[in-house]
Amino acid sequence: MTYPIDDIRADFPILSREVYGRPLVYLDNAATTQKPRAVVEAIAQEYYSVNANVHRGVHFLSQQTTTLHEEARERVRAFIGAQSVSEIVFTRGTTESLNLVATSFGETFLQEGDEVLLTVMEHHSDIVPWQLLRERKGIVIKVIPMNDAGVLDMEAYERLFTPRTRLVCVAHVSNVLGTVNPIARMAEVAHAHGAYLLADGAQSVPHFKVDVQALGCDFLTFSGHKIYGPTGIGVLYGREALLEQMQPYQGGGEMIARVTFEKTTYERLPYKFEAGTPDYVGSHALAAAIDYVEGIGMDRITAQERELTKYAMARMADIPGMQLYGTAPDKDAVVAFNVKDIHPLDLGTLLDRLGIAIRTGHHCAQPLMARCGVEGMARASFALYNTKEEIDTFVAGLERVVKMF
Ligand code: PMP
Repeated sequence: MTYPIDDIRADFPILSREVYGRPLVYLDNAATTQKPRAVVEAIAQEYYSVNANVHRGVHFLSQQTTTLHEEARERVRAFIGAQSVSEIVFTRGTTESLNLVATSFGETFLQEGDEVLLTVMEHHSDIVPWQLLRERKGIVIKVIPMNDAGVLDMEAYERLFTPRTRLVCVAHVSNVLGTVNPIARMAEVAHAHGAYLLADGAQSVPHFKVDVQALGCDFLTFSGHKIYGPTGIGVLYGREALLEQMQPYQGGGEMIARVTFEKTTYERLPYKFEAGTPDYVGSHALAAAIDYVEGIGMDRITAQERELTKYAMARMADIPGMQLYGTAPDKDAVVAFNVKDIHPLDLGTLLDRLGIAIRTGHHCAQPLMARCGVEGMARASFALYNTKEEIDTFVAGLERVVKMF
């Protein structure tokens, strides 16, 4: 069956707008994706006709929003193959999910001198929370290196383990290099050493089928806005046995069973980790986004995006002075690059005037920039609605800009 690209693009009204009088070519999808009508309508419909605070409300609307919110949780559970809805915690996004694990897992399971392994390609949101914990508890952070293609050094990884290693945190897909890291193998190694593994799925869950049980990870994080859902909602998957033991992250309504001034007991999972009014409209809209991608088919989306990535890399490689970062055999829909000694900010600004949106800078991965010996990079990243024609426009734009230098 051919990929229904015209129908898909028609689902995203923003894709037909112009910037500076030119058709928009949106290649900043790793930062955030555009939203299909189905998602925006889910939000509008809920506010127009259902809205009420969830949980414990006896009235009709409250029960209806509660049902939608809990159906969304089940939708997420099925999407990532978790065993139980108790393992699905709604958060504000990947960043909050990671901070939750650093705080709550850290509080419960980590002592001074315990070790956490991070990769050199982690996003700042999977570095800084661990550094904050290091300040509070004196944990030790160790870094898994990679080779020049952007592939993790698995031998070095195994050598980093000691009897004090408790947790490995790794981006499932690098938001800069596009490398797909071998989570299943890494989890096996971690478990063999008595450690746990957290996969940051911010850049994997939107692009290919992710099954937490097949991966064997203990935690998985992702953001709604990177998978065509709304901003402000995200997910933490955690193994029930771990979440059960972990301290709550924040205190407040929703997360308690009983409160007295002497002592408070906590709600059952996953509510123990969901203090305050949750984003019940966001959860419902995230479910609509999941329905949308599954309606197209994750395998078809992956095939389309991988094809585009290969095509873009091949065309870009022909540009004189082009330096591509991240050439791992297993690579997802991100291409980071520099050309000649043109500052990435200049590249991005000039392409913008041609209607082409890319991202430039350190991509919240300054340690990775240091590893690559640069201050910044330009990055094009693809989504299910991008086309070869857009890549051609982008490459033509690049050629035009490069000639100016
Ligand atoms: N991890 C990775 C790999 C990412 O790409 C991002 C977003 N750029 C994040 C974490 C943080 O996601 P958010 O800003 O949605 O919390």
